[in-house]
Amino acid sequence: VTILGIESSCDDTSAAVIRDQLLLSNVISSQDVHKQYGGVVPELASRAHQANIIPVVDTALRNAGVTIAEIDAIAYTRGPGLLGSLLVGASFAKGAALTLGVPIISVNHLQGHVLSHFIKDEPNAIHPSFPFLCLLVSGGHTQIMLVRGPMDMEIVGQTIDDAAGEAFDKCAKVLGLPYPGGPVIDKLAAEGNPGFIKFAKPNIPDLDFSFSGLKTSFLYTLRDKLYTEPNFVNEHLPDICASLQQTIIEILLSKVEQAVRKYRIKEIAIAGGVAANSGLRNALQLLGQKRGWKVYLPKKQFTTDNAAMIAIVGYYSYLEGKTSPLDEPPLARLPLG
Ligand code: ATP
Ligand code: FE
Repeated sequence: VTILGIESSCDDTSAAVIRDQLLLSNVISSQDVHKQYGGVVPELASRAHQANIIPVVDTALRNAGVTIAEIDAIAYTRGPGLLGSLLVGASFAKGAALTLGVPIISVNHLQGHVLSHFIKDEPNAIHPSFPFLCLLVSGGHTQIMLVRGPMDMEIVGQTIDDAAGEAFDKCAKVLGLPYPGGPVIDKLAAEGNPGFIKFAKPNIPDLDFSFSGLKTSFLYTLRDKLYTEPNFVNEHLPDICASLQQTIIEILLSKVEQAVRKYRIKEIAIAGGVAANSGLRNALQLLGQKRGWKVYLPKKQFTTDNAAMIAIVGYYSYLEGKTSPLDEPPLARLPLG
């Protein structure tokens, strides 16, 4: 089965081709227009998707060495995401499917992040066995999923306010760092002392998360320091980043430990943009060794938004005969399942 995947939920235009689970190509065009605004501007994102979508699909097919006539189905992101951005990918997918006479498969973006673990970019790539727990940490979501099968996953805990990626990005903004802040903090943190400052950690029951208090604690701690040391941020930037990152990691991993205890599952995966964070990857790896878990870290190119993860969901849906009607609209909010 050959699937063309299309992802356009936020500010990356991406197309990928997979044959069964094997990845043939994955092209991602990231939009630079948003950098000067310090965040994604929805209208500009839609326009950039429109300019990019055809060349990106064209390049994905060429890189895969596949003609459009060989595509069996087109999988696209139905949501969640920015509506204008989603509409570009959805409209393209539907138009192309209609012309080619192939089915479309609408995909939940979050299911895509989780199933990114099943993309085979090399024939003997490994993946988690079912059931496993997946910590999904991205720009808009932070949740723990209990994954029983490719098409069977349940949210067992989630953030009650901000996402982990948002915490990285907003704190980076406070520090005057460019958008998106996550990767910049990751780099700076590598040179810093994670025990330099202690930020407040939330006390949230069960497997839920909260990050809005951390954001406030971060802001006030720096403000108070700046009264007495005007150069505090400049002089201690790596230490501040390392301390912030450490706090986020501790919040995330304490809930993973709790989830392992509750479900007695020791296959642990992470997914989403924040899964690219080197501090989180190292800390989870170490914790896994200590506790006897099997830990799965996705390759970095599959953590942030990409169409390969959409294509792989398309593949599993196709196997189950699940295709989608053409009149199904994209949705900015799309719950899983
Ligand atoms: P969602 O998937 O929830 O709809 P999204 O698609 O915008 O949101 P992703 O593309 O999965 O989110 O991830 C983007 C987020 O990942 C941003 O918040 C970014 O700062 C963060 N991120 C990317 N790389 C890193 C890193 N190395 N360390 C920390 N955060 C990172
Ligand atoms: Fe995403």
